[in-house]
Amino acid sequence: MRVDVITIFPDYFAPLGLSLVGKARGAGVVDLEVHDLRTWTSDVHRTVDDTPYGGGPGMVMRPEPWGQALDAVGPGTLIVPSPVGKPFTQADAYDLAGLDHLIFACGRYEGIDQRVIDDAAARMPVREISLGDYVLFGGEVAVIVIMEAVTRLLPGVLGNASSLDEESHSAGLLEAPVYTKPAAWRDRDVPAVLRSGDHGRIARWRRDQALLRTAARRPDMMAAYPPASLDKADRKT
Ligand code: SAM
Repeated sequence: MRVDVITIFPDYFAPLGLSLVGKARGAGVVDLEVHDLRTWTSDVHRTVDDTPYGGGPGMVMRPEPWGQALDAVGPGTLIVPSPVGKPFTQADAYDLAGLDHLIFACGRYEGIDQRVIDDAAARMPVREISLGDYVLFGGEVAVIVIMEAVTRLLPGVLGNASSLDEESHSAGLLEAPVYTKPAAWRDRDVPAVLRSGDHGRIARWRRDQALLRTAARRPDMMAAYPPASLDKADRKT
């Protein structure tokens, strides 16, 4: 997968050289390049912003550098992190993981001149994606989050791809609690069933815990869970 990130803060992306995303880059699974938007400015101050038409506080990112930057790295699927975008989900991560070329446009200040997004949409698919109902300083952190979620879905990145099957948000439920050694710690024991070696009972316990957790913490997810996906034992839980 080819990924281009355009930002005025290239240094923000150092974490994408670490851990499994860094490994995926090293292995050539992700070919990620970070570009400084100011490369495409033409004045001595390398200006990327100006006052908003219509007045109001803050500054808006000017269209010219953005237009040139997107002409240079595009076409691809343009992703614009934005609090007015569609809330990001695991389904979106799977969707993006299937694409060949992602281009991220990191907004700052009051955001990017709307014409940049409208102009790009005439030439390539554009998705405005929100991390949630709050406002960040800029799109950089959102890109790091999206890239982590997408990269771990790419073939060959996780050592054991089956860990994707039952994790939270993959099958419409939250995952059951997890435990490791020691079996007893501060008077707290690992549930006996997990030490029983009985794979059928363990699977049933995990499924029950996933259903109970989801119902307690995310009634919205439980309500959206297809009744046809519930078996007889699920209904008792
Ligand atoms: N004036 C904008 C508004 O009220 O919708 C907020 C601009 S915000 C200060 C600057 C940039 O941060 C945005 O252009 C976007 O790139 C990024 N950003 C802020 N909140 C975000 C969120 N919830 N999800 C994704 N990106 C966000």
